[in-house]
Amino acid sequence: MVKKPAIFIDRDGVINKKMPEGRYVEQWSEFCFLPGVFEAFRILSGEAFLTIVVTNQRCIGRGIITEERLSQIHKQMTREIKEQGGDIDAIYFCPHDISDDCSCRKPKQGMLLLAKEDFKNKGIEIDVKNSYIIGDDEKDILAGKLFGLKTIKIGEYSKMADMVKKDFREAVQAILEEKRRQFILNKSGFKESEVISLGCCKL
Ligand SMILES: [Mg+2]
Ligand SMILES: [Zn+2]
Repeated sequence: MVKKPAIFIDRDGVINKKMPEGRYVEQWSEFCFLPGVFEAFRILSGEAFLTIVVTNQRCIGRGIITEERLSQIHKQMTREIKEQGGDIDAIYFCPHDISDDCSCRKPKQGMLLLAKEDFKNKGIEIDVKNSYIIGDDEKDILAGKLFGLKTIKIGEYSKMADMVKKDFREAVQAILEEKRRQFILNKSGFKESEVISLGCCKL
């Protein structure tokens, strides 16, 4: 079986601008890509990471939009990202409301477990230890921690995340930087502190 690391990506607040509290993206005209998102996906398309969107959409459970409408929005989102040279390997959404107490709504890890299972059935083992979650909410970070991912919060502060970055593009750059450093470490047998002092972090 092929082993691949993944980047799990929250949607609202990472890929597109979050709607004001209590409002949801109900149609494509309300979906607004955040700055740097296309570039981040383009950079990732040359890397080994799977890109998997995991999004809570309780607007479905609340009857505000249908699953069909959400699927149209996601098709359009994927199409535009592809047109800009990027790609999304899979999208998972939780349609349930909080009161449904489902096992997929983040901070629970149901969507992550399901993704792992689905990819396994396609012959790809997700390399969890080298995988990441990027989200703008502590719920994303907690779900990632439960599953064993490295965690990156988009925003200004996090009490739990391994890293905090300003936006998706910066998060992706930090992941690639960490990967390169790891690669040099593995090859060289140096300790990390030595590599940094040698100033050879760029390949
Ligand atoms: Mg979010
Ligand atoms: Zn759910």
